[in-house]
Amino acid sequence: MHPPCTVCMGLDKECSKYCVYRRGFPPNEKVIEFSRVKYLLNMDNVYMNLLKLYHSIDQGDYEIYVRSLIHETTCRYDENLHGAKGIYDRDVGQARQAQKLVEDQLAAGQTVLHAIREEGLKLSEQIHIKETQLKAAGIQIPK
Ligand SMILES: [Zn+2]
Repeated sequence: MHPPCTVCMGLDKECSKYCVYRRGFPPNEKVIEFSRVKYLLNMDNVYMNLLKLYHSIDQGDYEIYVRSLIHETTCRYDENLHGAKGIYDRDVGQARQAQKLVEDQLAAGQTVLHAIREEGLKLSEQIHIKETQLKAAGIQIPK
């Protein structure tokens, strides 16, 4: 009984001791790396490329391919690059932030406007009282 390699385990496939994916992803190794490869890249292409390369290039190059595959997906994962969907999510997030900023500034502006209007009403009320007092005292207000 052979434990399945990480690729077969991740794709829920039968695995034998002759499985070609064992060389790049031995059992219980590079599990996180493989889950990123599976998540970020087109798995059908990766699966076929690994298979093709296994038969067409020497072992050293095959291991370089697996390392570069892991490196690429680690970079994409760390940099939070998820292709078009990642760009869409980032842009939508920025647009929502900008919208919230505008709404907050609008609300702050309305608060200031309200305070100015209240102050203006108080001042015109005080002017009216003064004019009434001056009129009562018989003093002419120059126009
Ligand atoms: Zn396998």
